[in-house]
Amino acid sequence: MVGLDEIRMAAARIAPMIRRTPLRVSRGLTDMAGGPVWLKCEHHQETGAFKLRGASNAAAGLGRVAGVTTASTGNHGRALAHAARALGIPAVICMSRLVPANKIAAIEALGAEARITGASQDEAFDEARRLVREEGFALVPPFDDAAVIAGQGTLGLEILEDLPEAAAIAIPLSGGGLLAGVAAAARALRPDIRIIGISMERGAAMAASLAAGHPVDVEELETLADSLGGGIGLENRLTFAMCRDLMDDLILLEEAEIAAGIRWLAREEGETVEGAAAVGAAAVLAGRLDARAGPLVLLLSGGNIDPALHAAILKGER
Ligand SMILES: *Cc1c(COP(=O)(O)O)cnc(C)c1O
Repeated sequence: MVGLDEIRMAAARIAPMIRRTPLRVSRGLTDMAGGPVWLKCEHHQETGAFKLRGASNAAAGLGRVAGVTTASTGNHGRALAHAARALGIPAVICMSRLVPANKIAAIEALGAEARITGASQDEAFDEARRLVREEGFALVPPFDDAAVIAGQGTLGLEILEDLPEAAAIAIPLSGGGLLAGVAAAARALRPDIRIIGISMERGAAMAASLAAGHPVDVEELETLADSLGGGIGLENRLTFAMCRDLMDDLILLEEAEIAAGIRWLAREEGETVEGAAAVGAAAVLAGRLDARAGPLVLLLSGGNIDPALHAAILKGER
């Protein structure tokens, strides 16, 4: 498990590599939720998502390597490419055929090689493992890694520094690195804080695994919350147990609810977020999440959405 000391060390290490993102109140969601709702605007992070925190912490902790590699649906690959360039080491990012074109282009623009391989996240991961075995690369996994979890956990420190009275944090959930890190930090500082995970109905691997009592594979389906797709790994070492032990509630959302969240954040808050990041607002709008027990923080985890898709959602076409 990852603890507060590791998360504090990560915060010190990555401070020069990341932005400290703003936390601000949402008037509209506060009116709807029966108590104060705050937005942690991590979609304003460099590279457009929180994954820069974990990737920077992990990459900065490596010794001499031929390069770094990972498998990623986009945001983690982009983060690792950015961190590798900052540290002056080569990066090869392996990803499945389901990854949208804008995310591939973004990785190549950061000077990394984008290697498209396999029909799923798990298959792309095999190529990353091969680079480690045969070419001397170091693997920086997207979520199931202590240094990555500690990096993501720095968000929990920032949230409680800015809003010590927070009663609950709602966190987009896929492989669980974000939830595990934020929950570990927040619970260590505030043992009574509520941790709520949110995924989409379509292909939520952590939800299926928790229900089964062990990591299971799910079919990877197209979803507006594409950054929440992919498995948790059948050999999961850390995030399955941490999510099981630290999460109070899990909410699963329909595609139309996620679209409504994206639309609402754009129109009412002026925030462009991707589907994965809209799930907190979507849950409040759907009446599945409220702030009656005290201040609720919604973690807006990323903003990397295809502009054409975003426009279609705003027009109500999705
Ligand atoms: C990766 C990602 C998530 C989920 O993070 P996990 O650590 O895999 O649970 C949520 N939102 C965005 C934007 C992401 O890129």
